[in-house]
Amino acid sequence: MPRLSEVIAALDDLWPAERAESWDAVGTVVGDPDQEVSRVLFAVDPVQEIVDEAIKLGADLLVTHHPLYLRGTTTVAASHFKGRVVHTLIKNDIALHVAHTNADKADPGVSDALAGALDLRVLRPLVPDPGDPHGRRGLGRICALDHPLTVREFAARAASRLPATAQGIRVAGYPEATVRTVAVSGGSGDSLFDDVRAAGVDAFLTADLRHHPAAEFTAAVAHSPLALLDAAHWATEWPWCELAATQLDEISDRHGWDLRVHVSKTVTDPWTAHAASPDTTAGAPN
Ligand SMILES: [Zn+2]
Repeated sequence: MPRLSEVIAALDDLWPAERAESWDAVGTVVGDPDQEVSRVLFAVDPVQEIVDEAIKLGADLLVTHHPLYLRGTTTVAASHFKGRVVHTLIKNDIALHVAHTNADKADPGVSDALAGALDLRVLRPLVPDPGDPHGRRGLGRICALDHPLTVREFAARAASRLPATAQGIRVAGYPEATVRTVAVSGGSGDSLFDDVRAAGVDAFLTADLRHHPAAEFTAAVAHSPLALLDAAHWATEWPWCELAATQLDEISDRHGWDLRVHVSKTVTDPWTAHAASPDTTAGAPN
């Protein structure tokens, strides 16, 4: 049975901490390097519900995409939900390790998993990492569809292939436009609009799009059919958990570790319900 330090070293090879953004907080949050690891759980969010699942499962290591503490803290008192997570983890001998923007930029990374879930062929990164001579690492991915779809059909595919959430998929742009090429970026993607525009794709699928950036983006490309597809943040990153679990499984086989690797199916998207307007053409009341 491997020690935590050995498993973490393998995870660091997949997602080196130095490739994370400077503002990010990645790496091991809780855990004794000498503790043995037999069962691992992957999830997007390090929240109490997921920690409870790890306990029930008998996991020794929880690997999440989102950091528990992105900024510094002066307390891990259990009176706050993050402190309670720390207490619960330590009391149950469960380590917590985070791979965030270092997993976004990896090859394969978060957006490769998203593209895979949507049955897209990855062509290249949307924002290539200048440190990668092979041009495969970086933020987001530019992808091609094997057969063109309308924006409406592509949105329906995304809604059915990504994990189900209350939000589903929101679309900005002309629903009957043809989609042959797509930029995808797991998580919040509205900082990437300039790169998407430069890539010349037909659509951009990401999460957390806001009124002003989306309105300005679609106005700026009014002459082209470029569409925006906004999915739930959690749903765009969840496919990475399955990819990462497969990667760790392969490492475990190679080392003869016999790890049991699981992926949480718990929906930790904060939005729980969605009421569609009965008639979207009706507009504001008179
Ligand atoms: Zn995220």
